[in-house]
Amino acid sequence: MKIPDILFSAKPSVSFEVFPPKQNAAFEPIVAAVDRLCALKPAFISVTYGAGGGANTNTRTIAEHIVRQGVTPLAHLTCLTSTREKIQEELAALRSAGVANILALRGDRPVGETELPGHYAHASDLAAVIRDVGGFSIGGACYPECHPECEHLADDIENLKKKVDAGVQFLTTQMFFENNILYRYLAKVREHGITVPVVAGVMPVTNGKQIKRICQLSGTYLPSRFKMIVDKFGEKPDQMFSAGIAYATEQIIDLFANGVNHVHVYTMNKPEIGEAILRNLRSIVEA
Ligand code: FAD
Repeated sequence: MKIPDILFSAKPSVSFEVFPPKQNAAFEPIVAAVDRLCALKPAFISVTYGAGGGANTNTRTIAEHIVRQGVTPLAHLTCLTSTREKIQEELAALRSAGVANILALRGDRPVGETELPGHYAHASDLAAVIRDVGGFSIGGACYPECHPECEHLADDIENLKKKVDAGVQFLTTQMFFENNILYRYLAKVREHGITVPVVAGVMPVTNGKQIKRICQLSGTYLPSRFKMIVDKFGEKPDQMFSAGIAYATEQIIDLFANGVNHVHVYTMNKPEIGEAILRNLRSIVEA
């Protein structure tokens, strides 16, 4: 199934995210986690590429496994550190594997690198290549709190428009913990004439230490209500799990109530997160 067909429906949907095994790491635990997530019948499951050291061919292997479970995969693909030939090879291999949806990404710049001659510089370049190859639906990333390398949100949204004009058909947001940030962002994005569906990325925080580190790196705003929860429960895994799921559930219900119908839950190979979230939302998502 092509993801835009799911996203043009007004019916609330929930999708999940996994990352593939690192080079030479065991597949079994990740496949077991993916199978539990597939059993929940999400709208789709995205598989990261390269992020966190995952071997890139493993993205395709996991995406192909998801196809076999009867669920739609979204394979992430980055371009900054790949040659143009490698990108063409990967697209051909994804097509053979029956993967029809790609999240076109630039990827993070390797430390110390300013230019990688001969490589695609932006996700918009990759989107145009995928569009020209044909047969895939194309997603892209967007940043309600501005991409860290861009000084002004208005410029980042101008660049986002280039990405959409190059063929991106839907967007998934970076995580955010304050819904008003997303609502303000969506208004600006729409004012710029970007009309493609936007999937809201929600990260249920079940590990206090990890989230402080991630937010320091990405500059994500942490509302004081959220910080209080992490300060109070962050050191107690069971309590942090309950509190993190409750916070994310509340965020998602508010998104649905405000007309944001599609939510991407950053489950990160933890099926228990997907299960707990859907337990809370089942009657809304299945209505
Ligand atoms: P781009 O859209 O190219 O934007 C990067 C920067 O360049 C921005 O500051 C933008 O304003 C600017 N820009 C864009 N186009 C132009 C242009 N034409 N001219 C001038 N400036 C421009 N990383 C991974 O390695 N693997 C993953 O699987 C992965 N998955 C992700 C999933 C989501 C939903 C998100 C939000 C991020 C993900 N990332 C992943 C991280 C992503 O690779 C980084 O945030 C990266 O720094 C930017 O990628 P991008 O595709 O948004 O880049």
